[in-house]
Amino acid sequence: MEEKFILALDQGTTSSRTLLVDSKGIIRGTSQKEFKQIYPKSGWVEHNPEEIWSTQWSTIWDVMEEARIDFSQIAGIGITNQRETTIIWDKKSGNAIYNAIVWQDKRTAPLCEQLKSKGLEDYVRENTGLVIDSYFSATKISWILDEVEGARKRAEKGELLFGTVDTWLIWKLTGGKSHLTDYTNASRTMLFNISTLEWDSYLLEQMNIPQAILPTVKPSSALFGHFREDEYTIPICGVAGDQQAALFGQACLEEGMVKNTYGTGCFMLMNTGDKKVISKNGLITTLACSSGENIQYALEGSVFVAGSAIQWLRDGLKVIKTAADSEKMAAEVAGSEDIFIVPAFAGLGAPYWDMYARGAIFGITRDTRSAHLVKATLESMAYQTRDVLEAMAEDSEIKIKTLKVDGGAVVNNYLMQFQADILNVPVIRPEVIETTAMGAAYLAGIYLDWWDYRTIMSDQRVEREFIPVMTSDKRQSLYHKWQDAVRRTRGWAEK
Ligand code: ADP
Repeated sequence: MEEKFILALDQGTTSSRTLLVDSKGIIRGTSQKEFKQIYPKSGWVEHNPEEIWSTQWSTIWDVMEEARIDFSQIAGIGITNQRETTIIWDKKSGNAIYNAIVWQDKRTAPLCEQLKSKGLEDYVRENTGLVIDSYFSATKISWILDEVEGARKRAEKGELLFGTVDTWLIWKLTGGKSHLTDYTNASRTMLFNISTLEWDSYLLEQMNIPQAILPTVKPSSALFGHFREDEYTIPICGVAGDQQAALFGQACLEEGMVKNTYGTGCFMLMNTGDKKVISKNGLITTLACSSGENIQYALEGSVFVAGSAIQWLRDGLKVIKTAADSEKMAAEVAGSEDIFIVPAFAGLGAPYWDMYARGAIFGITRDTRSAHLVKATLESMAYQTRDVLEAMAEDSEIKIKTLKVDGGAVVNNYLMQFQADILNVPVIRPEVIETTAMGAAYLAGIYLDWWDYRTIMSDQRVEREFIPVMTSDKRQSLYHKWQDAVRRTRGWAEK
């Protein structure tokens, strides 16, 4: 019999990728294509929806051509995607009426202020799990409906459709037959009630968004329609936003399990099981992946600047040539802990939420060399991660036993060891760090009965575990100094 595969589509912020995964959960091929970032004004970020689709489509073909297989060998399709990014298109023609407004886009900050002044903050937190912020889709939808001529009228008449990127890809793959999303993506719109699992009619009314444009919402492992090519009909059967997909891909399937992704920023998610924990410490509550029977929630905290601080060392300060240099340089000056860098380049995220904080370097002396700055920058990722983890432990009342990690910066052994030391928690680096795409593949595979939760958990292979070795006195005194450093950066831009 011919071997069968799952196509895992990983539609990210800077590139579209496709992975070919076999029935043992092994990645047998990958293809990736970058696409254009559009910056029409300061603070605005857009993508061309057709380019999102065309790059995704070409990676599907590339990966199959490379592996010399055709669609007869594809058993199912899983999708994971950049979250919150908003697209509105014409139901008949399938043409987008405006570019995709990307999650990073800040144009709707004034609209968010208006919502706050209407007193909606508590309602939003209680029902969507989120804070009112331009990051989420709701105000991006409002902006398009307000700014594109005739859009609101057409939306009311049912002529337009809204989708996050998953919905857009499903629509394209099914030739316009399915207008669907999953719980994890819906929970990032600021319009979805995470208790009732329905669109929130009060918020829709407050934001003047017609219900008719919204997709139907399904569990992450479910049938989202079929892709048809020649005589082949392939189910799209796993869908999740990128961070939730990574949580699933890391097999954080039980209450209390945590993963942290170290990329441009850091994204930490904790599975809180069937408990919807509303944070008192600046975290957000979101839906985790599920196959429908048992809804699972997660707590999420994000750090804005993590790996991008390493890019600053490389491109701004020019003290390293490549990101990988940072490991060797930091190791050379290990043991001298006098410098602290708070990379609050654009304010601070969870748990501080201080948009007026700005970056600072503390403790410079005549002996300070570039290696010390490199070391302090790496360590700032670990300290910020501890800040979020502490908030998570307090909100969930769960003591975290291990931290599973993924993302581009986890190859750095100095960082991983320091992370374990500063948390006093073992850090587990998996063999396969493609956790996001694997999450989408697993979700599809569960629907296809290839795998169940048990096999996914037992399939996790650890590449390396970093065990804490630092004394508790040292850990305490370092973290204390870090907290002091953070305090001194707060509110700087307001002064
Ligand atoms: P994203 O998905 O956000 O684009 P990735 O997961 O691809 O990010 O990770 C890229 C980030 O990781 C970059 O910001 C880069 O500076 C950082 N990075 C890559 N390699 C290393 C390394 N060896 N040490 C520290 N940081 C690294």
